[in-house]
Amino acid sequence: MKITDCLFGYVYYKDKGLKGRGEDRKMAYFMTQERFNQYLRDWRQDYKIYAPVVLAGKGSFTNTDSVRYKEITGVEEIAFARKADYSAKEVVLPITQTLFYFTEDNWTEPQVSDKKILLFVRSCDIHAIRRLDDIYLRNGCEDPYYKVFRDKVRFALLECPTGFANCFCVSMATNTTGEYDLFVRLDGQHVTVGIRNPEFLMAKEQEIETEPQFVQENNVQVAIPAELRLAEVAAAPLWQEYSARCLGCGRCSFVCPTCSCFSMQDIFYKDNDKAGERRRVWASCMVDGYTDMAGGHGFRQGKGDRMRFRVMHKVGDYKRRFGYPMCVGCGRCDDICPEYISFANCINRLAGQVKEEKA
Ligand code: SF4
Ligand code: SF4
Repeated sequence: MKITDCLFGYVYYKDKGLKGRGEDRKMAYFMTQERFNQYLRDWRQDYKIYAPVVLAGKGSFTNTDSVRYKEITGVEEIAFARKADYSAKEVVLPITQTLFYFTEDNWTEPQVSDKKILLFVRSCDIHAIRRLDDIYLRNGCEDPYYKVFRDKVRFALLECPTGFANCFCVSMATNTTGEYDLFVRLDGQHVTVGIRNPEFLMAKEQEIETEPQFVQENNVQVAIPAELRLAEVAAAPLWQEYSARCLGCGRCSFVCPTCSCFSMQDIFYKDNDKAGERRRVWASCMVDGYTDMAGGHGFRQGKGDRMRFRVMHKVGDYKRRFGYPMCVGCGRCDDICPEYISFANCINRLAGQVKEEKA
């Protein structure tokens, strides 16, 4: 049995051993930050540990911060109270990934670290990685370059009791999850840790009864139409407005935890133009050139057409194939858009216009 199949069915306590789901799931350990950092130090022997951290002054606008995933050494580095502007996707699906190095008659794959990966993530982002798994592992064939990272990943759940601006995870049913290996809560100078995977051993610490808190209501609500037919969707007049407003910058795709497209690049070295490397690099259906073909023809030249494609992919076509929408309602695309284009609003408007169309 693969380890991921057996991770989530039990709880491990050092003094009580393995327990099934139920009452014991509510037990957690309570300790000081220093004590938890000792555990992080021990775990770092076997894991690279990534969490959202505040990058002061690195935001999109002057005097704003950015919150991104970086390797951490201490719990105090984790941005518990802020939404990460970029998701954990960039850890399992790097922005630029070298697939292999080549010479005239040979090729080699890059070395990958033996260490496992511990990701501090919120519920919606765990659901988002499930969407990436659908695309890269369960969509006809397995992508070995994704799998090599994904097999190493363990989840440390960050609670989300109130949600953030623009989130609509409740509408997308991604606000709760049971698929985590441990959960971590910051209580002032103390840390509460619930362990569900025996890989993360803890000595006897003070026990408390608690379980993760999940947001139950967002300010933004989205209603996806039960059925989205391309003819009706394409006829909706709202796309013309997006053609006028959207800049085609692609920022909405790059912050999206579920966008999974990439383009390929062969880089030839300057000192030997017969040697080089093949890379895959994140791409976006919202930018110019994405659909260009040999001969210069490009589909979806209009920005509104691109928006329509993106919406249909995220909440229509994907749902038909996998049974749930691709979008997890994190709201990052709404947070980042320089034109204040709201994806949530777009879905709701589309639902209204499709309804009118039918009437
Ligand atoms: S809300 Fe936007 S960024 Fe988040 S998953 Fe949905 S489409 Fe992607
Ligand atoms: S919707 Fe906004 S973020 Fe996305 S490509 Fe258009 S302008 Fe850029």
